[in-house]
Amino acid sequence: MKITDIKTCEARFGYVRVYTDEGVYGTGELSHQGAGWRQIVDSMKPILLGEDPRDVDMCFEKIRRAFIFRGAMSGHAVSALTGIEVALWDLAGKAQGVPVYRLLGGKFRDRVRLYVDCASGDYTETYRKVTDAGFTAMKFDLDDANRPEKVDRWNWTVHPAELEVIVSEAFEIREAIGPHMDLGIDLHGRYDAVAGQKIAMALEELDLMWLEEPVPPENIDALAKVKAASNTPICVGENAYLRYGFREILEKQAADIIMPDISKCGGLSECRKIANMAEIYYVPFAPHNNSGPLSTLADAHTCASVPNFLALEYHRFRDEGMEQILDKDGPFIDSGHVVLTEADGLGAELNEDVVRSMLPEGERDAELWR
Ligand SMILES: [Mg+2]
Repeated sequence: MKITDIKTCEARFGYVRVYTDEGVYGTGELSHQGAGWRQIVDSMKPILLGEDPRDVDMCFEKIRRAFIFRGAMSGHAVSALTGIEVALWDLAGKAQGVPVYRLLGGKFRDRVRLYVDCASGDYTETYRKVTDAGFTAMKFDLDDANRPEKVDRWNWTVHPAELEVIVSEAFEIREAIGPHMDLGIDLHGRYDAVAGQKIAMALEELDLMWLEEPVPPENIDALAKVKAASNTPICVGENAYLRYGFREILEKQAADIIMPDISKCGGLSECRKIANMAEIYYVPFAPHNNSGPLSTLADAHTCASVPNFLALEYHRFRDEGMEQILDKDGPFIDSGHVVLTEADGLGAELNEDVVRSMLPEGERDAELWR
């Protein structure tokens, strides 16, 4: 079996499709969009033409090594490579008639627990909707660069009035959702090290599932300092890429939980390896995911394949009918979990009518894949 072509599609989400000389193809979704990602995939294509798509890790490494010399050790290029990697796994599963998790070493679980990213809003109402749908974990954003309490919007210090607002909102959320719901709070890396420490300490008694990115992602020593200051679990990783991006975080034990974004930081195999690295530090794996249903389903195969999986993010809870983008047997999400089946590959195809309906009106007659 040989790779004959690679094409892309952009319709709200970004997709990559890998074609072969035997007619079977695989589809993946990637995280970074915006200018240029389709050209990056196009520029990677010649590297894989003629290769056997079932040699997924080799195909991945062949592109990754070539692109190091183009400055691509993170960012859009790794995300483009990730879209190809996921498509290769879908293809490899279909070609061998097995679900992708079988090729990743098999599964620890059939149902992959999701947590709902709730951003902000009416906490009681959100809690009711989320628990009615069967979810057992949720996350809220408590950073806000435009808070009136901020003294300076460029300075990452937390001033006493702002600290008071953050802490009282966090307590309000815990009050609204009760003591037994897993609760994450995201700060999006918008505080300095002392501010991160103050916030983490002030939230200790809320028994958070985690406090996410209290400080920016670049300085692991500063992160370790924040982690050491309190009992609040610290979770990071959505801005780290590849295994290499997690080495220092884990070696310095600078985080309690890691959250690689599977569809942007390397893909299904790379993130299984990252989870395995974390496992030996007894660090849980709770992937970040603000992508669409195909990515969420793909991520679930990796989450099923490692023991230390905690929860997978889901951003599309409020997007009515979003799951119709997938053609599959049975529900995509049941009672707060992605349901994995024995279907081959990722276990679903894109419904191209639904994908096309997400294009701007004037573009719906154009070729979907190019
Ligand atoms: Mg985040």
